Amino acid sequence: MRSTTTTTTTATASPAPSPDALLRKAALRKTPVRVGVLEVLARGRRPMSVPQILGKLKGVDTVTVYRTLNTFVRKRLVHRVRGEDRSWLYAVGGDEQTPPEHLHPHFVCDGCGKVECLGDAEIPHAFVESLGVSAGYNVSYPEVVLHGTCPRCTA
Ligand SMILES: [Zn+2]
Ligand SMILES: [Zn+2]
Repeated sequence: MRSTTTTTTTATASPAPSPDALLRKAALRKTPVRVGVLEVLARGRRPMSVPQILGKLKGVDTVTVYRTLNTFVRKRLVHRVRGEDRSWLYAVGGDEQTPPEHLHPHFVCDGCGKVECLGDAEIPHAFVESLGVSAGYNVSYPEVVLHGTCPRCTA
């Protein structure tokens, strides 16, 4: 099993670095689509589906957006989580040391179906160890999705 010894915490409230800075850090060429996708995700403040992202980008090819998102996930500029209908939702955040899915749990509201990054919550480092997974299963990272009712639906 891979040890999980990171101390990185990323709060969703902290200001996101500019698309330029992110692309430079990931050694990716700057293209209008890449900048556009990063801007849309940063402004979204919540994981977004590909149709939602496409809706905010005018005249951009669907395949290009999928390819861009896959590149961002691979370079860890962006992380993803499954939405209610099992489609991928994308959000900014991640770094080279930590698989982005390991940074924070995600929350799915059973009332309104919204999916959120719980940027202030942290998955404990010993979380996988604490599960007592049988020998022979090589865990890369945990993806924690919490279900319940969001503050808006509880109020
Ligand atoms: Zn809700
Ligand atoms: Zn997230």
